[in-house]
Amino acid sequence: MGKKLCLNCKKSFNMSSQDLKGSNFKCPECGNQSIAITHRFRPPKLDDNRRWDVVRFLVKHGFKYQHISIFEPDRHAIPRFIGYAPYPENMIDAIEFVERYKEQALVRS
Ligand SMILES: [Zn+2]
Repeated sequence: MGKKLCLNCKKSFNMSSQDLKGSNFKCPECGNQSIAITHRFRPPKLDDNRRWDVVRFLVKHGFKYQHISIFEPDRHAIPRFIGYAPYPENMIDAIEFVERYKEQALVRS
C-alpha cells in the first residue's frame, strides 16, 4: 500500500483504496498535487529543511523510496544481488546516490 506525499505541506498521507482507484493525488490539506511514494518513506521533521531538500532532490530524479538493489559486479557471471541500498539523508550522499543508481530511477509517467 502506498502513500502520497505533499512536498508543499511536507506531509505524507496513507492512500485510501478510493485514492488508488481514482488516482486522486490531491493533498487533503492544501489541495496541491501530491506524489505517490512507497510506504517505506519516513518524512523528516517539518523544520528539517536540509532533509526535505534531499527528499525533493531524490523524488525529482526518480527515487521515490522504492527498493534500490545493490549488485556485486562479476566479470564472469551475472552480477549478484547483495541487498538494498539505504536512502541518503544528506545532499552530498544524495548526489552520489542518484548518479550511482540512475539506471534504477523511476521514469516519469
Ligand atoms: Zn499539501
